[in-house]
Amino acid sequence: MNYMIIPFFDTVILPEVDYQLGINEFSADEKEFLKKSDNLAVFLPISKKKPTPDIVMEDFFGMGVIAEVLDISESPLGTHLHAMTHEKVCLQSMVNENGYLTGDFSYVPEERDITADGEHELLDDLKQITISLSEHMQGGEVVQGYLKSCHSLMDYGAVFCQFLNMTPEEKYALLAVDRMSARGILIQEALLRFKGTVDMQVDINKRYNDAEGNLYKKAAIQKQLALLQDELAELDPDAVTEENEYVRKIAASGMPEEARTEVERALKRYMQAQPNDPERATLETYLDFVTDLKWTVDEIPPINLEKASKILDKDHYGLKKVKERILQQIAVMSLKQDEGGSILLFIGAPGTGKTSMGKSIAAALGRKYVRVSLGGVRDEAEIRGHRRTYIGAMPGRIMDGIKRSGAMNPVVVLDELDKLDQSYNGNPASALLEVLDPEQNNTFTDHYMNVPYDLSKVVFICTANSYDGIPQPLLDRMEVIQLPGYTPIDKLHIAKKHLIPRSLKEAGLEKKQLQISDGAIRRIIDDYTMEAGVRGLKKQLDILCRKTAAEIVMSRSVAENERKKAEKEARKAAKLASAAEAAGISADNDHLAPLSSESSASINYEANMSAEINSAANASTEKSAEKKITENSIIEKISVKEKDIPKYLGTKTAFHDRALKKCPSGVATGLAWTPVGGEILFIETTAMNGGGNVVLTGQLGDVMKESATIALSLLKSTFAGENLNLTDKDIHIHIPEGAVPKDGPSAGITMFTALVSLITGKSVSPTLAMTGEISLRGQVLPIGGLPEKLMAAQRAGIKKVLIPKENVEDLKDVAPEVVEVLEIVPVECVQDVIWQALEIKLPKSMALDFFSAPKAETTAE
Ligand code: ADP
Repeated sequence: MNYMIIPFFDTVILPEVDYQLGINEFSADEKEFLKKSDNLAVFLPISKKKPTPDIVMEDFFGMGVIAEVLDISESPLGTHLHAMTHEKVCLQSMVNENGYLTGDFSYVPEERDITADGEHELLDDLKQITISLSEHMQGGEVVQGYLKSCHSLMDYGAVFCQFLNMTPEEKYALLAVDRMSARGILIQEALLRFKGTVDMQVDINKRYNDAEGNLYKKAAIQKQLALLQDELAELDPDAVTEENEYVRKIAASGMPEEARTEVERALKRYMQAQPNDPERATLETYLDFVTDLKWTVDEIPPINLEKASKILDKDHYGLKKVKERILQQIAVMSLKQDEGGSILLFIGAPGTGKTSMGKSIAAALGRKYVRVSLGGVRDEAEIRGHRRTYIGAMPGRIMDGIKRSGAMNPVVVLDELDKLDQSYNGNPASALLEVLDPEQNNTFTDHYMNVPYDLSKVVFICTANSYDGIPQPLLDRMEVIQLPGYTPIDKLHIAKKHLIPRSLKEAGLEKKQLQISDGAIRRIIDDYTMEAGVRGLKKQLDILCRKTAAEIVMSRSVAENERKKAEKEARKAAKLASAAEAAGISADNDHLAPLSSESSASINYEANMSAEINSAANASTEKSAEKKITENSIIEKISVKEKDIPKYLGTKTAFHDRALKKCPSGVATGLAWTPVGGEILFIETTAMNGGGNVVLTGQLGDVMKESATIALSLLKSTFAGENLNLTDKDIHIHIPEGAVPKDGPSAGITMFTALVSLITGKSVSPTLAMTGEISLRGQVLPIGGLPEKLMAAQRAGIKKVLIPKENVEDLKDVAPEVVEVLEIVPVECVQDVIWQALEIKLPKSMALDFFSAPKAETTAE
């Protein structure tokens, strides 16, 4: 069967439908052909829009319907076809003669697998849905009118599916299916999909209209406003006023409604204020602060524990346990997908890497980092900000830090928590408690900002030098991680791997320009630093690098100056030589014959000149030799050995006490913890005739004074049965180096040992040191800072150390190279101490003898 083809793009073509269709044009020839073929043509869907002359067979989907064209009419809007479609056909071949399309077709049977009732039921359903949809549409009545004229599924599909958002392929699929029921399902699905979109739009419109919708609308308008402002700023930068800029920044900030209201109020006041009104400047500072603050959470990369571990290892040498604990915390954060519960508190001496570890954690988490110092904070307002009514009001340190970080979820290191002070101006610790409390910190209100800010996305890490000074409620909220001091070996590694490369870079030196031997580094550690950390070591290395950099640069400058000087002299010589040549005088003037006096003057002059030329020439050769030397004298590389250190760093500055060579009776060696690490200390006692007084010297703190009193009382009670009479004696206890304040209970057993040594006249070994608090019952109580103390003992040349038995657990924190060289003896009571120190056996229970002795005497009487 050969038919004329009428192509249709993006149109629902179905059999058995009475169509009114618009087409591009219909030529007279076409009309003629149509007439000849009983007004029959094939409506054939096309897969892409194309002008008719270019159409090829592949452009058609393949199936179409035979259509009986009932009428063709022309109107200003184009050509209209009124046609009735019949059977479905399939294109077999096609001819395109200058846009005049004909084709051979075969019939495609259709299965009518749905009863007339079934079809009506489905049609009613579709009509119902369409009516409900038409209520939300403009011209809904027209739709309802159309619906009345739909008597079959095909009619409905041909009219309504045309308006549903279906692709040309989906529209063709309605024709291509060979069963009626399948076509019904496709139409129903398309209608329901459309209904979903309409429902959603209705919902959005509704939200626009109710109170919540107003907010949504406002946010959308503000967003648009910000975009317009941006565009305006790009087009005409001069037209951007400060006010506009604030409006733009507020709109773009994403701040919550409550904050926005407050900030917009401030902006209004700012706009109303006269330019010379002091309030304007205050408001400007405020607006700058709140608009620069980040109000939305930054995207952070997912946590990769292995990568995090590598970052921690790269930045810090050693600190195995600390890193392990940090990784656990990071793992928890990764699993819980939040900031991970406990707040870490790093406690350790200065320079042990607390702050820099915080920085590494930020890098490992892919977050921004900021450090907030709490040192010397006395006033609550320093944490929580001053109210804006104060002159010179400022935000608190926390919000200031958050602003500096440029993120809403940074890692904030709160440094020097133990330096927090309390004063009459409120309690900064309680404000900090609020900052750190996950229950409260999502609405932290800085007085200056006067609007809540969500701190719950921040990762807080605190640092302190020691427990002392940290308010207990804060301490309770944190998990403490101790950073023990570094051993000299640790310091050597840290210097080689981390500090020297950094110092070289800071001094502008390359690695090959300065080599520092291990011996030199060790000497710096021993003789120029007194610290548990490595900050002092870094300073000394910086000095060393700077001085060597100066040496290198100086050698270059000297060489350069000498080169310039040599060049200048060579130029001068060359000038003289060419002047002589111009005068026709050879440097060799032997051939000159005696002449008249007049000419002899001239000859003298020339002879002088010639001599000068000779000497200049000689000088030039000398200089070139010198130049060689100069070039050789440029220092390219410096190698620093142990013996060179004093040349760069001056005489040694660190004096650690060494173990005594000989220990007189009444003297014992103790171990102390100081903020810069462990030290050994000597306790000296002496007795003289007097009236039972005790003298304490050496800048002892209250706790140490108490230890001395306890030691003395214990001594008296211990030796009560031995007729020890101290009533006519004065006892003097002294701890040298009076300029250094000393406190803490851990010298208790040392004081007692020194006193026992004094009264017994027996000496304690100079290589024995001890640490431990004593109770009045003679128990040895545990102490803190064991790793630092043992390190100090090892450095001082001590061989044996007595430690409280309860501290044995802490030995695992002590560097193995320290434990290996010391004989560590745990002690439980003063009897153990005295036996170890003086080989004297004290009775276990002393009270009975003391109280029973006078009684026995009475009975004897
Ligand atoms: P703290 O906060 O404990 O006073 P810092 O973190 O400021 O000490 O550290 C001082 C310097 O020492 C920093 O430059 C730091 O990188 C370096 N440092 C400390 N510990 C180590 C270590 N284990 N490995 C490498 N560098 C370290």
